[in-house]
Amino acid sequence: MGIWMEVRCENRSEENAYTGYDNACWSHENQGSMEMAADTQASVKTVFKSIEKDSLKNGWKKIKGEWFCPHCVPIVEAINAAINSERG
Ligand SMILES: [Zn+2]
Repeated sequence: MGIWMEVRCENRSEENAYTGYDNACWSHENQGSMEMAADTQASVKTVFKSIEKDSLKNGWKKIKGEWFCPHCVPIVEAINAAINSERG
């Protein structure tokens, strides 16, 4: 048995995850970093670390502990900036 792992964008279910043809959240295109692990905790841990490293390399970003894809990062950052400026 293998264990399939893929990073999924936390913004994927938002309406703004789509902004037009061929311009969507990476998770809608199944383009998150992905890899197959063997069914051992050691392998899962190794593959998890590998996926995190690969995601960062490909422009994914962890914001407040959650992963966002390169398409959604600027959207989420703009929303967070707007929220912060409203709070003053
Ligand atoms: Zn996304």
